[in-house]
Amino acid sequence: MKPGINLADKRVLVVGLARTGIATALFCAARRARVTATEVRPEPQLTETAAQLRAAGVTLELGGHTESPFMEQDLIVPSPGVPLSLPGLVAARDAGIPIWSEIELAWRFLRGRLVCITGSNGKTTTTSLVGHILNAARKRVQVAGNIGTPMISVVDASSDSGITVVEASSFQLESIERFCPDVAVLLNLTPDHLDRHASFKDYKSAKARMFENQAENDAAILNADDAEVKQCTPARPRVYWFSRQHRVACGCFLMGNEICFRGEGTDTVLLRREDIPLRGSHNVENVLAAAVAAVLSGVEPGAIAEGVRTFPGVEHRIEYVARIAGVDYFNDSKATNVDATLKAIDAFDGNLLVILGGKDKGSDYTLLRESLRRRAKIVLLIGAATEKIEAQLERAIPIERAGTLARAVELAARIAKPGDTVLLAPACASFDQFESYEHRGRAFKALVHGLETHSIAGASARKA
Ligand code: ADP
Repeated sequence: MKPGINLADKRVLVVGLARTGIATALFCAARRARVTATEVRPEPQLTETAAQLRAAGVTLELGGHTESPFMEQDLIVPSPGVPLSLPGLVAARDAGIPIWSEIELAWRFLRGRLVCITGSNGKTTTTSLVGHILNAARKRVQVAGNIGTPMISVVDASSDSGITVVEASSFQLESIERFCPDVAVLLNLTPDHLDRHASFKDYKSAKARMFENQAENDAAILNADDAEVKQCTPARPRVYWFSRQHRVACGCFLMGNEICFRGEGTDTVLLRREDIPLRGSHNVENVLAAAVAAVLSGVEPGAIAEGVRTFPGVEHRIEYVARIAGVDYFNDSKATNVDATLKAIDAFDGNLLVILGGKDKGSDYTLLRESLRRRAKIVLLIGAATEKIEAQLERAIPIERAGTLARAVELAARIAKPGDTVLLAPACASFDQFESYEHRGRAFKALVHGLETHSIAGASARKA
């Protein structure tokens, strides 16, 4: 039985008013809680949101956080972007006020089964893929979480016979209390967000909290090829493994060209590697993890194969953009850490021109040296991390300082030869020059399509 919570007349403080905070404030207000929301941005930047929240009866403190509202609450729900080191949160925690992430609150109200997916990379791809497979198999499924729609926004539509697939970040998992997914997937663990978590150990413990309330009848799906993940193996739930390198006792693995599921001593071939429409061996791992989640959700092998085959992929994840003058352009703007960039580079045979840079997150770019040396011709650097990356890649590969993305695309188009590939996989956050990785990815695609127009115009001018 889930621990219930009656929000009526409870004093709830929502910290941060982006998508999750707004949805949380409205959710609590609809359940007659006395809601206050606090946000650093001032009123003029939030006119519509402020009007919507006030109409729902939410009290607002905009333009900064003072400490007193934090101390007068029954519950505080910080948004995923808000660090727990915020003085108001520290004081509230010391005073024993519960601080829950939105997924904890949502879970207490959610009906039906919950599949929760976390990891350093591949969360969105795997979450979308599980959603797609379940949908194709005609299961009642909703996809939510870090992926776009906050989990709290799908609670009202959940039903006892439905399945909710949620992507969870370390920031959401670090503030859970009783949150307990029926199926919990840990894809991989590599250093990320070290600007927000005190250490890799802290980051890893935040992710591993996903398993902490699971019982014997719950399931955990873990990457058997990842030593850091293996160290998080939980004791209570049933453990299923996935591996690209060897057969597992229970779970999914790649054997030669076949993706197999092994449960209760028998192997079932689910699909062949070439059925996977996504590039790169990291995506084989995402498929293996998704396949186990699908089996545990009652999907038949044939339907799993069909779901994988028809998966369209996710925008900004090694997304093919265009071929111009014999050169392919790929957008992997979502590669915001070194491991994702490494995987993107390794998904190609060679002849790469790689665009790197943006806002550094305390990363070690020397880890890219070997792959770049093997597969890339040149690195084009953009953004604030230019000097650090240049210093760490020196002598491994020719480097050109491009400064902006526009200049990088222009340079790449000039240098690339037919058969080459230009890959945007920055290994950095985007916030120094863009609003988000989506903004950066769209800007890249627009610049590439601009080249297309250019080259068509050039070709017709030459013909004329
Ligand atoms: P997340 O939601 O965890 O950020 P995404 O699916 O959005 O994951 O992918 C983020 C980046 O990581 C993309 O650049 C993608 O190519 C890369 N990636 C996807 N799956 C994996 C994986 N299993 N291991 C490493 N990198 C991956």
